[in-house]
Amino acid sequence: MALLNILQYPDERLHTIAQSVTEFDDHIKTLVRDMAETMYEARGIGLAATQVNVHQRIVVMDLSEERNQLQVFINPVITFKEGDVTYEEGCLSVPGIYETVHRAERIHVQALNEHGEPFELDADGLLAICIQHELDHLAGKVFVEYLSPLKQNRIKTKLKKRIRENP
Ligand SMILES: [Zn+2]
Repeated sequence: MALLNILQYPDERLHTIAQSVTEFDDHIKTLVRDMAETMYEARGIGLAATQVNVHQRIVVMDLSEERNQLQVFINPVITFKEGDVTYEEGCLSVPGIYETVHRAERIHVQALNEHGEPFELDADGLLAICIQHELDHLAGKVFVEYLSPLKQNRIKTKLKKRIRENP
């Protein structure tokens, strides 16, 4: 297993659009394990492959208290959205920044697991918010891009300064 490097906003590579996974080989299984290890090490609840500079449609999540319920979403698609909810979101690629974002309250998702087997689920609450946040990453979008241009610039300046000071 290996820890992967997490890209930090405003890294341009976070805007890459991920491609669908077509082969479920050992390479994918290793990548999923490494992504999970990286997410747990960074104390995150979700990580998209885009964030570790792998541009394939893969997401890992674990919302459990005990950190023992890994969820893997490959080629995920949201097929239904309903309602509106706001939540103060954070992101491993935007460390230390928490901002309120609007999301759909309830969603239906179709995806494949790491073996290539299809599954579907209905989600609400934090699970629905997290899935929407991670799917945005696969589409090249970071949550702060829902904020006003002024706020985005402030966050960029702050993070660039932090990277300069702690390279
Ligand atoms: Zn994120």
